[in-house]
Amino acid sequence: MAESMKGLKRSCRCAEVTEANVGQELTLMGWVQKSRNKGGIIFTDLRDRSGLIQLIFEENDCGAESFAKAEKLRSEFAVAVTGVVEKRSGAANPNLATGTIEVRAKALRILSESEVPPFPIEENSRTREELRLQYRYLDLRRPDLQRNIMTRSRVATMVRQFLSDEGFLEIETPTLIKSTPEGARDYLVPSRVHPGSFYALPQSPQLLKQLLMCSGFDRYFQLARCYRDEDLRADRQPEFTQIDMELSFVDVDDVLDVNERLLKKIFKEICNFDVPLPIQRLTWREAMDRFGSDKPDMRFGMELKNVSDVVKGCAFAVFAGALEQGGSVRGINAAGQAGMPRKKIDALVEYAKGFGAKGLAYLAILPDGSYKCSFGKFMSQDELTALVEAMAGKPGDLLFFAADKDKVVFDVLGNLRLELARQLDLLKKDEFKFLWVTEFPLLEYSEVEGRYVAMHHPFTMPMEEDLPLIDTDPGAVRAKAYDIVLNGTELGGGSVRIHQADVQEKMLEVLGFTKERAKEQFGFLLEAFQYGVPPHAGLAYGLDRIVMLMVGADSIRDVIAFPKVKDASCMLMEAPSQVEKKQLDELGIAIVLPEKDGERE
Ligand code: ASP
Repeated sequence: MAESMKGLKRSCRCAEVTEANVGQELTLMGWVQKSRNKGGIIFTDLRDRSGLIQLIFEENDCGAESFAKAEKLRSEFAVAVTGVVEKRSGAANPNLATGTIEVRAKALRILSESEVPPFPIEENSRTREELRLQYRYLDLRRPDLQRNIMTRSRVATMVRQFLSDEGFLEIETPTLIKSTPEGARDYLVPSRVHPGSFYALPQSPQLLKQLLMCSGFDRYFQLARCYRDEDLRADRQPEFTQIDMELSFVDVDDVLDVNERLLKKIFKEICNFDVPLPIQRLTWREAMDRFGSDKPDMRFGMELKNVSDVVKGCAFAVFAGALEQGGSVRGINAAGQAGMPRKKIDALVEYAKGFGAKGLAYLAILPDGSYKCSFGKFMSQDELTALVEAMAGKPGDLLFFAADKDKVVFDVLGNLRLELARQLDLLKKDEFKFLWVTEFPLLEYSEVEGRYVAMHHPFTMPMEEDLPLIDTDPGAVRAKAYDIVLNGTELGGGSVRIHQADVQEKMLEVLGFTKERAKEQFGFLLEAFQYGVPPHAGLAYGLDRIVMLMVGADSIRDVIAFPKVKDASCMLMEAPSQVEKKQLDELGIAIVLPEKDGERE
C-alpha cells in the first residue's frame, strides 16, 4: 500500500550523508537499488540522484511493523526511511561515496511499490536502446544518464550566468514563425484560423535575433529550441537546443573573444580543463589544405600534403589524369605503419571509396629504405624518392595518396586521416583541442539546385576585400563566418551579418531571389534595415553537442532527457501519431498517403 508523506521531511540526499553525520538521525527518500534479507537483518541500498547509501533494518531498532515492510522491499520501490547514521559495521565499500557509513533504520514507509522493471537500473546498461527509450523514465534513473542530465543543467546555468555578467539579455523569440526557404527542411504547423496557411518551427532564431539588434538590445542570448526536418545521424536530432547569441557594434574578434572566455569558464568548471587562450585559428582554406576538413580534429597531426607539383608529368595515369582535370594529388603519412597488413590496407582503400575515391595509392617505406608501392611500376625510382621526400617519409612509414577533384581528395583524405587515428587510438576523450575555422566561402554551388546557395546563411557578410568578386567569381568570395570546432566536431558557428540593405539585396540576387520573392520572404528584415541597423554579429552553439563531448558520451541521445530515434519518432510517447478526423477537419487538412509498393495499378 502506498503511504503518504504526512509529517515527513527529507533531511538531505543519500550521498550527501558523510561521516560527519555519524550519530545523527536523518530521513532519506529514494528508490531501492537492491535489498538483501539475511534473516533477522536486512541490507538495503537506497538510491536517489546523488547516489547510494546502505540501510540496515533490524527488528529491535525499527519495530515489527517497519521490519515487516522492509521484508517486502524490492528493486525500485520508492521509500522513506528515518534512521541513525553509523560507521559501517562490516567492511567499507571503496566504490561508494558513502562506503564507510550506513543508516540504522528506525522507521520505514513504502511510498509506492514497483513492478519488476523491464531492465536493471544500473550504470553502463547493456539493455538495447529501443527498450530503454520506450521506458525512458526508468532509463533516466540510471546513474550515468542522471549525471549527464545534471551536467547539462549546470552548463545551462553557467552559460546564463556568464552571459548575463557580460551584459547579455535573455530574450525569448517565438517558435511559431514564418517558413523561409533557405537552409534545411522546416517543420510546419497548420493554422486553424488561416486554413491552408502554415507556421514553421524555427530552424534557429536567426532573423528574430537580428531584429532584436535593430531594436537596440545590443547583446542577446537564448537557450533556443530549434527544429530541422533532416535525416537523423548520431549527433543530430530533429529538435535540439542552441545557445544562441547576437551582439551589436562588433566585428569578428569581439564575438570570438567573448566566446573564448565562455568556453574557458564552462570547461574549467565542468571538466576541470583549462582551455588555452587564444584558441587557435585556421582559415577555411588552410583547414582544408592541411586536414581535408572544415572541422579538423586537432588532437593529432597526420596533415595532408599537396604533391601535385611533385608528380606532375609522371606516367601514372591516375595522378596525371586528376591533374589534367584540374584536380590535385595529395597524401598523408601514417608514420610507423609500413608494416600494416595488406588486408588492413585493402579495408582502408574500401573505406576511401565510400567517400568517392576511385582508389587509393599507397607506398610503404620498408626498414631497409626500399619501397613497396601500389603504383611503383608507373614511376621511376627518382620520382618515387622525390615523392617520399615531399611527404617527409622515413623508413617504417606508410604513405597514402588520393588523386581527384579537390573536393573528393579532401573528403577522402580528411576521413582517412580520422579513420587511421581511430585505428591507432590517437583520439583521447579527455583531451580537448579547440579551433576556430574562419573565412568560410560565402557561397557554394549546389549541383542539385543549379545555383549558388549560402554556405552559412543569406545574411552573412562577405569579406570587404572580396566584395568586388561577387558578380564575377561568386565562389571565391570569402565570408566573415566562423565555426568553433572541438575534437573534430562543430560545436557552433556564426558570422558577422550584412547590415547594408544594398549588400543584402545583392546577396539575395546572387542566391537567385527575384526582388518580389525576396520581399515576400524577408521583406520584414529588409525593411527593418532601413531604420538604422547597427552592425551586428552572432553565433550559436549546439548545447547537446557541447554536453556530449564534455561527458564523453557517444551519442547526443545520452544527454537529452527525451530524445527521438533515427526515424524521428519518440518511442516513449509514440509520437508522431495520427489525430482525430475532427482535428484535421478544423484545419482543413485531408491526408493523402503515399501509395505503398504493390498497391499501384
Ligand atoms: N543561426 C545560425 C545557425 O543556426 C547561427 C548564427 O549564425 O548565429 O547556424
